[in-house]
Amino acid sequence: MARDPSTLTGDLARALGDPARVSANATVLEQHAGDFSYHPRRPPDAVVFAESRRDVEVVLRFASERGIPVTPFGAGTSLEGHVIPVRGGIVLDLSRMNRILEVRPADFLARVEPGVTRLQLNRRLEREGLFFSVDPGADASLGGMAATNASGTNTVRYGAMRDNVLGLEVVLADGRVVRTGSLAVKSSAGYNLTALFVGSEGTLGVITEVAVRVRPLPEAVLAARAAFPTLDAAAAVAVGLIASGVPVARVELVDPLTIRAVNRFKGTAYPEAPTLFLEFHGSEAAVAAEAEYAERLAREEGASEFHRETDPKAREKLWEARHHAALAVGATDPRKRQMVTDVCVPISLLPEALRAGREAMAREGVEGAIMGHVGDGNYHAVFMVDPEDPADVARARRVNDAIVDFALAHGGTCTGEHGVGLGKRAYLAREHGDLLELMAAVKRAFDPRGILNPGKVLSEAGEDPLGRPAPLGPTGREP
Ligand SMILES: Cc1cc2nc3c(=O)[nH]c(=O)nc-3n(C[C@H](O)[C@H](O)[C@H](O)COP(=O)(O)OP(=O)(O)OC[C@H]3O[C@@H](n4cnc5c(N)ncnc54)[C@H](O)[C@@H]3O)c2cc1C
Repeated sequence: MARDPSTLTGDLARALGDPARVSANATVLEQHAGDFSYHPRRPPDAVVFAESRRDVEVVLRFASERGIPVTPFGAGTSLEGHVIPVRGGIVLDLSRMNRILEVRPADFLARVEPGVTRLQLNRRLEREGLFFSVDPGADASLGGMAATNASGTNTVRYGAMRDNVLGLEVVLADGRVVRTGSLAVKSSAGYNLTALFVGSEGTLGVITEVAVRVRPLPEAVLAARAAFPTLDAAAAVAVGLIASGVPVARVELVDPLTIRAVNRFKGTAYPEAPTLFLEFHGSEAAVAAEAEYAERLAREEGASEFHRETDPKAREKLWEARHHAALAVGATDPRKRQMVTDVCVPISLLPEALRAGREAMAREGVEGAIMGHVGDGNYHAVFMVDPEDPADVARARRVNDAIVDFALAHGGTCTGEHGVGLGKRAYLAREHGDLLELMAAVKRAFDPRGILNPGKVLSEAGEDPLGRPAPLGPTGREP
């Protein structure tokens, strides 16, 4: 439905009592029209910058009374079109709600507003000898990370967001405020609504506070980089490390295409070979012994080098290279956009899953950069596609389909961490078709008018079965 932006922004400003919190400026709308992915961008009618929970309550009451869509927005780093306001309406930007409310070192927990980013939180925690473990690479917001059940390089040791969120404050679609969970590390009190909101991608409520577990900084940290003759050999070492029970903190695999892109992007000179990035946390003696064991495994699989780093600056550089891998691949062709797969399989099947992925790419003649949190059995293939070229997108999608099919046929999942957004809705149907009705009933219970991030996670009646957003009219708005 087309809405008159000036009426909408005027009404919102009056409801909030502050015109500075509402914008329909073209640049601001464009900044909130999309993400890093190939999914078509679409500007909202208005952006509200919430500064407090009260603002969120006001906006949701306002929107639910009028049936206006509201799309929550954290740092906008998600990869499956999650933040694209496909039905227009309001984008609710939470980045100004960025206060760290409480750090309790003795209880190993912190309470934060949703716009606090993970690097901001870690800078504050470092003063107390603590850190927050979930690390998706991007400097995402804690609200967005909770909403996508983010994970990343440390998950193999410390778990994903769902393992680290103790409780939430959430504003529901009609403006009511609820608190879930507690500050205790465990609870058996009723249905686990914290776990339901974590990963709900802004479709069930707007998170206004997150209580998370934090960890003591390890006494010693040792990072390592090992180069292998084949991807199979690198994957075998990742699987071997997990199988041996070594409490490795990070096991990341990248293929030669990715290393080449990283070398160009970061000015590094890593050998352009299948590579594992590793990290060990513990006492000096423990990390040295674990690295020695890993090196032995790596040499047995033909590793040509096993390079260790204990100096904090050198470690930071090494992980920066890994964290910027997706951006480096993106920079190889700035005219194109990224389509990213994100499958996760039972760990022993990882080498086979990687082989199946590479075979699919070869079959379709599609180049894909492979990188992954392989200690979790989770890997990504990044395809650079031209969104204006349907054949290009279709080719990459066929590879994506084959990779997901392999994962689903072997007990895996279509998304280990990025979530469903727009891009994986058809895959969600393949993975959990029998549960979609129950999921839709949950959505109706929390959001009966369907105003919260509509069109995401679950397809709606009459939509493209592949979950693609409707084409835009000539004005950039719905026809
Ligand atoms: C280079 C790069 C590397 C990445 N690597 C990883 C990785 O290793 N692991 C991983 O998990 N992800 C990764 N991602 C994806 C992304 O960083 C995560 O999905 C992250 O959790 C998104 O957080 P955000 O603050 O950017 O959320 P946004 O993108 O702003 O929003 C994501 C979703 O959450 C909803 N949302 C945001 N805030 C709230 C809120 N307060 N209440 C309710 N809903 C909300 C939005 O509506 C949307 O549906 C990567 C992204 C990039 C660009």
